[in-house]
Amino acid sequence: LDAIRAVEPAVAAAIGAELHDQRESLKLIASENYASPATLLAMGNWFSDKYAEGTVGRRFYAGCKNVDTVEALAAEHARELFGAQHAYVQPHSGIDANLVAFWAVLAQRVESPALAKAQARHVNDLTEADWAALRRELGDQRMLGMSLDAGGHLTHGFRPNISGKMFEQRSYGTDPATGLVDYDALAKSAREFRPLIIVAGYSAYPRLVNFRIMREIADEVGATLMVDMAHFAGLVAGKVLTGDFDPIPHAQIVTTTTHKSLRGPRGGMVLCQSELADQVDRGCPMVLGGPLPHVMAAKAVALAEARRPEFRDYAQRIVDNANALAEGLARRGAKLVTGGTDNHLVLLDVSSYGITGRQAESALLDSNIVTNRNAVPQDPNGAWYTSGIRLGTPALTTRGLGTAEMDQIADLIHTVLVGTTPGTTNGKPSQAAYVLADGVADRVAGQTTDLL
Ligand code: PLP
Repeated sequence: LDAIRAVEPAVAAAIGAELHDQRESLKLIASENYASPATLLAMGNWFSDKYAEGTVGRRFYAGCKNVDTVEALAAEHARELFGAQHAYVQPHSGIDANLVAFWAVLAQRVESPALAKAQARHVNDLTEADWAALRRELGDQRMLGMSLDAGGHLTHGFRPNISGKMFEQRSYGTDPATGLVDYDALAKSAREFRPLIIVAGYSAYPRLVNFRIMREIADEVGATLMVDMAHFAGLVAGKVLTGDFDPIPHAQIVTTTTHKSLRGPRGGMVLCQSELADQVDRGCPMVLGGPLPHVMAAKAVALAEARRPEFRDYAQRIVDNANALAEGLARRGAKLVTGGTDNHLVLLDVSSYGITGRQAESALLDSNIVTNRNAVPQDPNGAWYTSGIRLGTPALTTRGLGTAEMDQIADLIHTVLVGTTPGTTNGKPSQAAYVLADGVADRVAGQTTDLL
């Protein structure tokens, strides 16, 4: 840190403070983790200075042999780890990986001379008429994805996201009675809508998705099945999700982030069947510019770690811990969406405590418990204030916490939420303001540090 401090002390101080905060608080954000020192070091080095547009052995820049080494290694580890036919490790994030996948499927499936021309030429050589033809030919494609409030991600066709503008979109939800994906309703909707792509995968669904059934539905309506396993990639890598619940054998194309349960650097990745490989490899320049060689190096390290036997044990402990947390909360009377969990996350409906997700998130943060508010299905408080809190166990499992500690954490969360009441802003009821009973935050925070 001294080198940074000499240039911009405020950044050095913020890095130090971040390390302190992440070490000293209970990190229960389902999409976060702690990457290993080897992964972090592979990311912070001279690879960051290198341009390497293109793919391994076929670059638009000279001097890329070391980048080739790390990119090829990351792709090999990814293929071996997941049993995928092809891996593309350049996406900078999950959102990029999804865009690459959407374009790859469009290019493979849609008969479009304009797209073929756009891919063959430099963008500067395309005329206004070419772009108009491209919009016309690709314009009417359809995507069926899980709705945001059922736990889907905004890149699965949510209107404010580019995916909701690229495609005519329809979403599937969950059964209001059980909170589970209703495959019959989904199949019915797919038959009516005839989408080009069905997207499976989620950010806030606490149960498993049966990808064999999803593929059957996709095949019946002539859709390509894309699975976004960003959240549960670590459980697939660790062989906790197998058979019908492993997306790789079932989906034609699978995207992921590398930084959540997979415990790698911040980034994305696309895995696909061979027939989509050429289109996926066109991610640069279709969607991406220069890849991030330092992040690809870190992906290679993290994927090598995930191929070790101990990662399977880690993945199993994530799920055991999520179960223990869910049971601990349920036993104390908390209301859980779907009643529990099968994966790494728990969705707690805080309306029974008489507060919003926003109030719960703030009160927990005051008590040194870091979570994020999250909509529950058919949420009356909308996506900003919400009625839920999403809790995930990948990070604390990395810290070595086990099921006994999860029960203690359930108790601490329950204590904070029982002690929180809605507050007012300028004398009016507020969905954000809250009052935490005297002493609760300090008492709970003290106990969280004992756990770490
Ligand atoms: N897909 C899913 C299912 C996610 O949960 C997320 C992130 O929360 C993403 C994609 C986007 O990942 P990123 O933030 O790396 O763009």
